[in-house]
Amino acid sequence: MSDQINDCLFCKIVRGKIPCQKVYEDELILAFNDISHAAPVHFLIIPKQHIASLYESAQHPTILGLMLAKAGNLAQEQGLHEGFRSIINTGRIGGQEVYHLHLHVLGGPQPLGPMINRR
Ligand code: 5GP
Ligand code: ZN
Repeated sequence: MSDQINDCLFCKIVRGKIPCQKVYEDELILAFNDISHAAPVHFLIIPKQHIASLYESAQHPTILGLMLAKAGNLAQEQGLHEGFRSIINTGRIGGQEVYHLHLHVLGGPQPLGPMINRR
């Protein structure tokens, strides 16, 4: 196994080396609650395969489609019947902290407010 995968936090969660609060799992994707939630419901959908970021996603269109396709169903299951926000941070400018592709799904009873502060 390469060091990149060996040292990757989310690969460790996939392998069960680090615990998580699982929301969903199948052969290709895993969803679990964010450890530091930014909204009453905040979970992450990740590919089980190590893909560092959206920069690499052109090589993995199927898994990206599966992640996005699952977001609405999982949001409904978590009680988000009136909408939710999905975010993929990419790279330093995007504020990506964990370099294993992940889709944030956030929501709750109150509107989340503006997506980003306008200048
Ligand atoms: P990013 O900033 O890369 O888009 O988001 C990374 C997210 O991973 C953050 O929201 C952070 O709270 C979450 N996170 C970091 N470490 C862990 C962990 O060990 N377990 C879980 N469940 N989430 C984590
Ligand atoms: Zn990884």
